[in-house]
Amino acid sequence: MSKFIPLSVPNLRGNEAAYVNHAIQSEWVSTGGAYIEEFEQKIAEYVKAPGAVACQSGTAGIHLALIAGGVKADEEVLVPALTFIASVNPIKYVGAEPVFMDCDDTLCMDMDKVEQFCETECSMSDEGLINRRTGRRVSAMIVVHIFGNLANMEKAVSLAEKYHLFLIEDACEALGSYYTKGCFSGRHAGTIGDIGVYSFNGNKIITTGGGGMIVSNCMDCLKQTKYLSTQAKDDTLYFVHNQIGYNYRMTNLQAALGLAQLEQLEPFIKIKEENYQAYLEHQIPLLPFREDIRSNRWFYSYMTDKRDILIQELNKRQIQSRPIWHLISDLPPYRSCQAYQIERSTYYWEHIVNLPCSTNLTKEDVASVAKAVHEILK
Ligand SMILES: *Cc1c(COP(=O)(O)O)cnc(C)c1O
Repeated sequence: MSKFIPLSVPNLRGNEAAYVNHAIQSEWVSTGGAYIEEFEQKIAEYVKAPGAVACQSGTAGIHLALIAGGVKADEEVLVPALTFIASVNPIKYVGAEPVFMDCDDTLCMDMDKVEQFCETECSMSDEGLINRRTGRRVSAMIVVHIFGNLANMEKAVSLAEKYHLFLIEDACEALGSYYTKGCFSGRHAGTIGDIGVYSFNGNKIITTGGGGMIVSNCMDCLKQTKYLSTQAKDDTLYFVHNQIGYNYRMTNLQAALGLAQLEQLEPFIKIKEENYQAYLEHQIPLLPFREDIRSNRWFYSYMTDKRDILIQELNKRQIQSRPIWHLISDLPPYRSCQAYQIERSTYYWEHIVNLPCSTNLTKEDVASVAKAVHEILK
């Protein structure tokens, strides 16, 4: 029986047990406790943001970001068709509608097509950008930094300004990715738009079991999202709540885990880079990341026109792989939503297979995955 090689699993071999134990011994296990603020501060420092708000999940973070952006029921939000479902569901939580956009060859939202959509399908009015087909206002845009790559933020920012769109960065997969060239050189994924959100789900580059973090340069947005994430409590003694809040605060246990993980983020990225290179050396031409960034190389993508055969055959050899996400615009809750010229997303959906990329992956593991891929596709 050959060794099982998982796609992407956590790596908890640092101070995780020590910090979590400390949290347990202190009996601060819930939504209060020193680790939460320390984790917020350390993430903010790491990505060079003025502040951060820890929450229960990336999904919760995106939900709060939409509320902070003032996105209302019956408005529309531009979002990629090729992304994880959690980029899109929060749009429905606030009663708004997604409009699905295509991707470019970075797999992130194609900003040229977004521009084309705004120019040819919409009109500017006093209320903002109006989608002529539906008559609804387009009030926000969620760009997703797919697999640790970065979207074209220079263009995203200029379109957001021009068309008065609140710009949310779904940076759930891109903690540690930043521009190294151009006007945003040195700026981290998540810190360029109005609000950015990271996820610490189990398969992300660092994990808290489940968790998320909101960052922003807008202090009001940080204040508001923290307030809403803690039940919108205005008076802690008399339980006065002046708005409808959410129970979205991260717990001290999660933050303890997160702090230990954050200590290892740079070493994890180094391993991701080395394993990425190792695949290339074994003649597995993974999709490249942008050249003007330092990417965290969270997930590796391999293109093949034998997607399903490859996944099945790898599985028989104890190697876990998967297709990229089903296009959201083809899923039952979203089939009736507008999708604007998403041909390239369809092409990538049909061809991408994600290969094992855990930070526990050894050079021998990479060699056996590569060997298996060559055997199956020969
Ligand atoms: C993981 C992920 C999310 C959601 O994060 P959770 O913490 O699992 O809620 C959102 N968007 C993308 C692109 C993700 O990969």
